[in-house]
Amino acid sequence: MAGEPQDDCLFCKIVAKEVPATVVRETETTLAFRDINPQAPTHVLVIPKVHHPDAASLAAAEPAAAADVLREAGEVAAQEQADSYRIVFNTGSGAGQTVFHAHAHVLGGRGLQWPPG
Ligand code: 5GP
Repeated sequence: MAGEPQDDCLFCKIVAKEVPATVVRETETTLAFRDINPQAPTHVLVIPKVHHPDAASLAAAEPAAAADVLREAGEVAAQEQADSYRIVFNTGSGAGQTVFHAHAHVLGGRGLQWPPG
């Protein structure tokens, strides 16, 4: 069922603490942890605890949880003292999405080019 934990989902396992992660923030509805393969000095993933395959599906099904993810992305940037940062939602394999549990990348701590590759 939509929103329920999925047995084969890496990020559901991180939410369940079955897979370790370096957690930087946690709320009732979200978890923020460092990316295992950082692309910038600050590279934190913010995920909803509920399972939806991507950010748009999350926003359609549970808009409050999507808002929580965005708010927490800003809180992570503030905590990391990144005054300029980027929030990225890769959506679909062609855009580089590899984990199909909605997540925001929060990238900062260096200059970021536009357009992204
Ligand atoms: P995507 O490619 O789906 O937009 O982002 C998935 C991110 O998850 C990648 O940046 C990847 O480095 C990160 N990632 C993959 N496996 C793990 C893991 O086991 N732990 C952590 N902390 N990050 C992971």
